[in-house]
Order: sequence, then structure tokens, then C-alpha cells
Amino acid sequence: MPDMETLVSLCKRRGFVFQSSEIYGGIGGFWDYGPLGVELKNNIKRTWWKAVVQDRADIVGVDTSIIMNPDVWRASGHVSEFSDPLVECKTCHFRFRADQIKGENCPNCGNKTLTAPRQFNMLFRTFVGPVEDDASIAYLRPETAQGIFVNFTNVQQTMRKKVPFGIAQVGRAFRNEIVTGNFIFRDREFEQMEIEYFVKPGTEDEWHARWRDDRMNWWTRALGVREDNIRVRALPKEDLAHYSKGTFEIEFNFPMGWSEVEGIASRTDFDLKRHVDTSGKGLEYYDDETKEHYIPYVIEPSMGVDRCLLAVLFNSYHEEKVREEKRVVLQFPKALAPIKVAVLPLLRNRSEIVALAKELASSLRPHMMTMYDDTASIGRLYRRQDEIGTLYCVTVDVQSLEDKQVTIRDRDTMEQIRVPIAEVRQVLEQKLGAE
Ligand code: ATP
Repeated sequence: MPDMETLVSLCKRRGFVFQSSEIYGGIGGFWDYGPLGVELKNNIKRTWWKAVVQDRADIVGVDTSIIMNPDVWRASGHVSEFSDPLVECKTCHFRFRADQIKGENCPNCGNKTLTAPRQFNMLFRTFVGPVEDDASIAYLRPETAQGIFVNFTNVQQTMRKKVPFGIAQVGRAFRNEIVTGNFIFRDREFEQMEIEYFVKPGTEDEWHARWRDDRMNWWTRALGVREDNIRVRALPKEDLAHYSKGTFEIEFNFPMGWSEVEGIASRTDFDLKRHVDTSGKGLEYYDDETKEHYIPYVIEPSMGVDRCLLAVLFNSYHEEKVREEKRVVLQFPKALAPIKVAVLPLLRNRSEIVALAKELASSLRPHMMTMYDDTASIGRLYRRQDEIGTLYCVTVDVQSLEDKQVTIRDRDTMEQIRVPIAEVRQVLEQKLGAE
């Protein structure tokens, strides 16, 4: 696995991730995804959505607003309790999360001048409407989950869902983290993919275990994460959030150590009950088979897209020596690779070769994510495509003008096959469809 610096530099150099507002010196905890980053991110979200919504009969999706009635956050406990302990160094004025530092000395300047911890609320605040007063305060959502809870009855009734069923959502979340860092691992603006899975009280432990196994399978099968890079552990009781009966954390083996990429919490009926109490509206479920009314319990698999993307990058990074030269390859699974095929002319000064290559690229473009590149020698072009994880390179050479055949090169094996131009699309589609 590469170190963080190597990966950050590749991401910038190749157009995956840039610092937000870079020309103004950036802003801590905010990032921009470049042309390849946005493809990778969309592919990750698509893979998740397919697995948890489209392939299942028991889960439906929503897309709820980022700013909600502030009472939502009072009910959920975020206004009063969504905080981390903050300490500040009186000498250098750096701020830290008290639970992330060891000893009594400032990790920045080394002086023993840290303040006592105080609770710092991580909600971002803004104002809704033209008047900036207490009555117009609103919050940017710190999680997508509450948009699901407040729509529980809307979704259950319109879709005629029977418990057990789930609601999924992908969307932005905002947390004013005291300390950000490790590249896109801890951000102030990020994206989440969350499922609230509603079950009958009493069946939650069984469903919690099922979701733990389901989600681990997704990480290893759909994302291709190697088994030695991922693990799951049950959080000890003392580390549980106030709403949680039990939480599994899926962790990835990052260079900075094993760190959470997904949490699977057994949230009981905490959230729905809090919304019933605060809104005065009933959010009960009526089970027409057993004729019972109850508030369902909830299992919540919740993950961050940005952390997932970082894990996928580390997991896919591969370095090898080829003829005394270093070859860097991002070995993304097929569904995740930002570019599926690159069409490259062997000689960029021969206009007939360039024209044929451009024509081939245009014919492939509507069917698969295609890139055309003629800005360097073929060796450099291959290296570039390997470094961004392009699955196949199609090379047009002098011979192609006569025999109407081109070469398809496989990213991982570097094997090359000669294929008639008329069959390139079909061959590639077959390869892309195969496991
Ligand atoms: P942490 O302990 O790392 O602060 P958390 O336990 O507060 O995370 P959750 O509230 O469980 O995180 O959020 C669910 C998921 O959202 C996490 O597993 C993570 O993937 C993602 N996530 C949370 N906070 C951030 C952040 N600041 N930046 C990027 N992703 C985040």
C-alpha cells in the first residue's frame, strides 16, 4: 500500500481530487472532485444504490432536503448533544479533539498549556429567509438519516411497504469537525450513503447480524476490497452513541491505521419515538397480519462516500517493476473504473492513424466511458492510463490502416489481442460484462 502522500499526489496529478478553492489557499476540510474523481464517486454510489435499492424488493430510496425544520435536530438530539470535546493550546492557539490526543502536552508546540475540554457543537448554522435572528436559524444536516425518519409514514404508506423494509438515501452531510485531516477521510462537507431498515421489535439482533454480513460482503465483492484490508468489530458498550443498542464498525486498513468506513448501528425506536414526542404526530406502524400497532426498531448501515473512495484508491493501488521501470496501476474493479477504454494512436503525427483512432473513439463513446489521447508517445500513454485504472487500451497502428484491425491491451495482464475494428465494441462489451 502506498503512503498517504503518494496517493494524494496521484489524485491531484491525475485529476481525481483537488483542494477546494485552491487558488485562494484552500479551506480546511473541503475538497473538489475532478473529472476522474467524479466518475469514480458516481460509480461507487451507483454500485451501492444497485445493491441496496434496485436489486432488492424490500428497500426504496428517497432524496430529502439538506436544510430541514430545526425541530428535527432538536428532536434527534443533535442541537444539544452533537459535540466533541475541544481543547485549545494557550501558547500556539491550535485546537484539538481531547479524545484524540495523548498526555497533557500540546501536539503542536509541546507546551503544557492546554485548556480544560469544553463541548463543541459540530452543527453548521445558517439563516433561512431575509432576517438573521434566532427565529430563522437553521442547520445543514449532519447526517442524511433524519430525512428518512421524518418521511417514514409518507414512504411506508405510498409504497405500501410491510415491516421489515428499508429506506435508503445518498446525499451531502456537513459537520464542523474540530480537526480535519488524512486527506478526504475527515471532511467538513462529505457525502453519506445511509439505510434505515425498519424491523419488528424483538427481531433487531437477528437483523443486525444479517446486515453486518451483507455489508461486509458488499465491501469485499462489489468493491473488491481485499480481506486483509477490511475488518468488522463490535464497539464496546462504553463507546456506543446514546441512541445505540449495539454498533458494528467496518474498518479499513489505512496508512494511518485501522479506521471506520461504515457503521451499522442498532438504533432501537429512539429516532421515531423522539419525532413522535416532538412533532406530536403518530409514526406508528400497523401490522395488518398480527393486528398490532408498534413503532419499528431500526438497523442503520451508514457510510461515507468519500471515505469509501479513499479506501478503494488505497486498495486498488498497485506498483510493479516492468523492464526496470516502475509501473503504477489502479486496479479498480470493472464497475468502478472511471474510464473503461482509452483509444490511442501509435503514431500521433500520422493523420490517417489519428483520424481512424478518433473515429473509433467516437463510435465507442455512447456505449462505454471512453477517452482519446494522443498527447504523448505510446509508452507514456499506457503509463497514464494504467495510473488512472483504465481497463482497456485500444491502439491504432500503421498496420490498422491496411488490415482494419487494432490491438486491445488488458490493464492487469498487459496481454494484447488483435481484433477487427468492426468487432471492437462487441469484444469490449463482453469483457466489461464478464466477472
Ligand atoms: P468518526 O467517529 O470517524 O467521527 P462517526 O462515528 O461520527 O465517525 P457516523 O456518525 O457513524 O460517524 O457517520 C457514518 C459514516 O459517515 C462514517 O462511517 C463515515 O464513513 C462517514 N463520516 C462521518 N463523519 C465524516 C467526516 N467528517 N468526513 C467524511 N466522512 C465522514
